[in-house]
Amino acid sequence: MQDNIVIVGAGQAGAQVAQSLRQGGYAGSIRLIGEEVHPPYQRPPLSKKFLAGETDAEGLWLRPSAFYETQSVELLTGAPVARIDPARHEVMLATGEPIPYGKLVLATGTRARRIPLPGVDLGGVLTLRSIADVDRIRDGLAAQDSLAVIGAGYIGLEVAAVARAMGKAVTVIEAQDRVLKRVVSPAVSAFYEALHAAKGVDLRLGTGLAAIEGEGHVTGVRLADGSVVPAGLVLMAVGAEPNDDLAVAAGLETDNGILVDGGGQTSDPDIYAAGDCTRFFLPRYDRSVRLESVQNAIDQAKVVAQSILGNEVDYDPLPWFWSDQYHIKLQIAGLSDGYDEVITVGEPAEDKFYVAYLRQGRLIAVDSINSPRSHMMARKAIGEVWRADLLPAAA
Ligand SMILES: Cc1cc2nc3c(=O)[nH]c(=O)nc-3n(C[C@H](O)[C@H](O)[C@H](O)COP(=O)(O)OP(=O)(O)OC[C@H]3O[C@@H](n4cnc5c(N)ncnc54)[C@H](O)[C@@H]3O)c2cc1C
Repeated sequence: MQDNIVIVGAGQAGAQVAQSLRQGGYAGSIRLIGEEVHPPYQRPPLSKKFLAGETDAEGLWLRPSAFYETQSVELLTGAPVARIDPARHEVMLATGEPIPYGKLVLATGTRARRIPLPGVDLGGVLTLRSIADVDRIRDGLAAQDSLAVIGAGYIGLEVAAVARAMGKAVTVIEAQDRVLKRVVSPAVSAFYEALHAAKGVDLRLGTGLAAIEGEGHVTGVRLADGSVVPAGLVLMAVGAEPNDDLAVAAGLETDNGILVDGGGQTSDPDIYAAGDCTRFFLPRYDRSVRLESVQNAIDQAKVVAQSILGNEVDYDPLPWFWSDQYHIKLQIAGLSDGYDEVITVGEPAEDKFYVAYLRQGRLIAVDSINSPRSHMMARKAIGEVWRADLLPAAA
């Protein structure tokens, strides 16, 4: 085992690697380096309770401040890493300071994608990934009456829900013909479309964009048909890109994500990676994936720690995820793409149901709406045996 471990990226996965190394008995040096000024924090509340003002920044911290000291984890915040030199076993901070490593872990997460539209650099055109982003969105919502959200994925819809609760006029513009199309079945999309419409969101589906309009500050979004949606604030919520640039520049194998094996090891045996920034083969679904979820960040980080400690591991998780919008909790177990049969159980009209996705008769995923019991049973049913008949009869 190496006695000098450096973790780049002080987020969900980075913090977990540090903790799991200590839990596994590793006594050497751990440096956890993050570019943000905050200690590692949870991102899911950013588009939910934190944006709504129901929790403060400290409520997001993943570990109490004392953790880093008591566990002898040297936490460097506000310290972007600019370069990796695998031959010298060194990372270079943006300040030019070199930091040597025995083993290196990349846990750099993702960044929000921006569509290169005319007007995208206007004031009031924002994305959401960090506490700093939420501060900007909050200030914008305080000053403006209208919000246009570009992209009807989880983050866009969650922000739309919070902004409606604040009484803002909200338009959601989506290129696809239904919301959440990449991740859920038409029945679940229809449920969310009805929910947002009932809450007063103006949903524009199957709608292309031409430009963002304004002088200095955004005033609206021009659609492909020439019409303009007035907006004092625009949130671009069109997905995320992996922060794999350091890995690319260091010559590691990447493919829209840092490629890692079942033990979290990259193409360099002394460099590991975990969380949103990785791509790996998922045996359970027989394909390569890049997962953006807390589940993956935590579980893959544990795997990386085990590998560094010299234990053999083969990562094959059952992915799971959740989203909170208004009074509705969606919980997703498994990956549904490629399904050929859908079974809906329970009553969408009562805001409580689940949808099971099957491929060739085998259960591959379940979306549970306000039905935590179905979600937990689904995780068991898919995780262990892939059998739909083990799900509850009613949601
Ligand atoms: C608004 C929002 C809502 C979400 N909601 C959910 C949800 O409901 N459920 C769910 O399961 N998941 C959700 N997610 C996803 C979840 O938060 C991520 O999957 C998880 O944070 C990934 O952890 P990570 O450690 O890989 O990346 P992150 O937590 O993003 O941490 C990466 C860190 O690395 C830092 N970094 C990057 N490059 C460098 C560098 N060169 N030098 C130093 N530091 C660097 C970044 O600044 C960042 O702090 C949400 C994400 C967002 C943004």
